Amino acid sequence: MGTKFSLKKLISKKCPCLSKKYYSKIISSEEDTKKYKAIQILQISENEFIPQGNYKKLDNYSIIQSLLNKPLMKIYINEIFRPNKSIKSFQYQKIKGIFEQIKPEIKLLFKKLNLKLIIPDKPFKYRSFTYTLEGNPATVEDLDNYIPILLMELSIYPKSFIKKSKIKKIIILNNIQFSKVNLSQERSGFPEYNETKSIILSSKERNFAYIRIVFHHEIFHFIDWIDDYSFKDEKFEKLNLKNFSYGNGGENEREWIKLDKSLKGFINHYSTSALEEDKAEIYQYLIGCPDEALNNKDEIVMKKARRIQEFINQFDNKGIGKKENNFWGNLIDFRTQFVYKESVFQGNIC
Ligand SMILES: [Zn+2]
Repeated sequence: MGTKFSLKKLISKKCPCLSKKYYSKIISSEEDTKKYKAIQILQISENEFIPQGNYKKLDNYSIIQSLLNKPLMKIYINEIFRPNKSIKSFQYQKIKGIFEQIKPEIKLLFKKLNLKLIIPDKPFKYRSFTYTLEGNPATVEDLDNYIPILLMELSIYPKSFIKKSKIKKIIILNNIQFSKVNLSQERSGFPEYNETKSIILSSKERNFAYIRIVFHHEIFHFIDWIDDYSFKDEKFEKLNLKNFSYGNGGENEREWIKLDKSLKGFINHYSTSALEEDKAEIYQYLIGCPDEALNNKDEIVMKKARRIQEFINQFDNKGIGKKENNFWGNLIDFRTQFVYKESVFQGNIC
């Protein structure tokens, strides 16, 4: 990365959990064009996508395949993954109505994973002992923009993983306002593992890579807590340099701060705010860019990614962790041979 002139654009974003500037993305137009060619190869006829590679062994392959062949889905994919496509130039009119079109696949996937998709049509409010979550209903435009990529990202997970995670619902709201004593802040996602057992997502987001990042980040918080009701991980924490200590938690990390490049072992500054945020960020990186995370030039990042991989393998040892299933190999194929690796908008870490 860095700030060379060949790199084209800088986009600031918010943290997955919180309402602050979170990461920046620098786009290399040359690189994106090269990657775009890889997408073209896959679309060998105008009418049908022919997915390549081992990712067809992913559990939900048939649903992914069916989804990809929906007319508006092809346009959606070409819109969001076209090189040099900025968020502003995304033409919503072209994919208007996609949510209705992909409803059969939404139903199939949620049924298969034993999950409920909740889209409240009235303002939503959830109160716990210590905080309140509030949000407005998602708009039709939100659903058209947000749900297709969410569905693609959800589809990589095997049934065994979702079952182990104990996640029961995905709740889609336009916005999420988190409040507690002396604090009120907007969130992009929220893992509510105590009562509703849901991942709550704010669908007003329009940066497609960020939608992906938030989703996997929140999934990790959920399973990180649910496995032993603790965020501790000594093996992971020990990978940090000896003189390092985490900040005051994600909640207090309000502003985007550029990562100090001399600080080894982190993919962004937000990761330095708390152990649980560091782990969730490494996880979203591992799921989003598995090859790059597992072979990272920063040795500590590489080891952290491998530690999270080990954790996930143990967590779902009959699904993701089962060697014969080759989940990670299939995921790498999915990311490299298909559209997601070609995303114009990836975090500052890819
Ligand atoms: Zn978080």
